[in-house]
Amino acid sequence: MSSPRLKIVIDKAACCGYGVCAEICPDVYKLDANGIVYVDDPIVPEGMEDLAREGCDACPQSALAIEEVD
Ligand code: SF4
Repeated sequence: MSSPRLKIVIDKAACCGYGVCAEICPDVYKLDANGIVYVDDPIVPEGMEDLAREGCDACPQSALAIEEVD
């Protein structure tokens, strides 16, 4: 059984550019020129789920959420 795919949901207005997410999981979370988070692809690559969740949970602004998609 394969685990569900995860999708990153960003609340850009809440992001204050601390960069904690990108520090924990730089393959998923990127920072733009203003230090605000973005993702190239909202779907988390296979194998990166745990780190992506860790980065999401670590955001001090709760600007990130993860949804399961199938
Ligand atoms: S940890 Fe949160 S506030 Fe910091 S850059 Fe990432 S999304 Fe933005």
